[in-house]
Amino acid sequence: MTPAATARSVTIEGVHKRFDIDPVLEDISLHIEPGEALALLGPSGCGKTTLLRIIAGLERPDAGSVTVADRVVAADQTWVPPEQRSIGLVFQDWALFPHLSVAKNVAYGLPRRERSGPRVAEALQLVGLGGLDDRMPDTLSGGQQQRVALARALAPRPGVLLLDEPFSNLDTALRVEVRAEVHRLLLDLGITAIYVTHDQEEAFVLGDRVAVMHDGHIAQAAPPSELYTAPASRWVAGFVGGAAFLPGEVVGSQAESAIGAIPLQRQDLHGPVEVLLRPEQLRLSHGGAGEVVQVEYYGHDSMVFVDVGPAILSVRTGAEPGVVRGDQVAVHYGGNGAVAFALEAETP
Ligand code: ATP
Repeated sequence: MTPAATARSVTIEGVHKRFDIDPVLEDISLHIEPGEALALLGPSGCGKTTLLRIIAGLERPDAGSVTVADRVVAADQTWVPPEQRSIGLVFQDWALFPHLSVAKNVAYGLPRRERSGPRVAEALQLVGLGGLDDRMPDTLSGGQQQRVALARALAPRPGVLLLDEPFSNLDTALRVEVRAEVHRLLLDLGITAIYVTHDQEEAFVLGDRVAVMHDGHIAQAAPPSELYTAPASRWVAGFVGGAAFLPGEVVGSQAESAIGAIPLQRQDLHGPVEVLLRPEQLRLSHGGAGEVVQVEYYGHDSMVFVDVGPAILSVRTGAEPGVVRGDQVAVHYGGNGAVAFALEAETP
């Protein structure tokens, strides 16, 4: 396998950006270690692509700085053009030239003097497309076109690779397969990778860390398991993973709720709270005040939605849920301490 250039760190400090009068990024700071995979996750319009474009040098920040390894590439008085940043970019639509062959598309990513050298064949080999040099993009499958875009970005051996929604053009089945291949390849290369995605599952699969963006801010940056089990705010809790929020009243180390007492992770809460309940933390038993309002069968397991009065809770069960719509059931909390949010703490 052709080695990538040495993986480089990326440091973003105090970046602001507005378009016209609308602030799009507000005081963004992030450090990405060499070889780390970071997923930038957030809803549409929260500023993910703008941040990626600022790192790449396709957009200038209004304030703040971007540093790649030890080199400041964007700051008040400093501007390094995109092609000198050692950063590769895979666009959402792959941006292949339809009138150029696979090899010429890949060569386009290289400085002119290197286009006829071995780099093109190496890059195509790397992504498993060796021998397809002369094919035109429209004769390739979606997954293959994706790999051409990847080969083009990797050919100059960048120290950092940025990928903007790289799998969103693929249908669901292919997306999972191509995602796993690309993920493995980039892990093998040890390259620093920053993925932009609005898909939580994708962010969790790809990112060593996930930075959750909301309205131009980083709401939380943490490894996926920490985001899931210890979300920093109610907004993050609701955005990552299936979540229901059940009103409760803190009594000692528990919250009294419609499904009984729920042990809490944090012991410093008082008064009314909302308890975060994940589907896998809940169990069902027959008979009770809850009503099954919906059952979804997934094959490997099922999801049962139960109306418990103040909220509809989703409960993950075995493949055979053992209940049907209309059944009366009780919901039990079976997890360790639950996360809860004071009712007034609504800021992301
Ligand atoms: P999506 O997932 O939909 O691509 P995103 O999180 O990547 O969204 P951005 O593309 O960064 O979001 O856009 C953030 C905001 O900035 C949006 O409101 C968008 O309309 C606006 N915006 C982005 N680029 C420009 C531009 N060149 N001129 C004006 N407004 C822009």
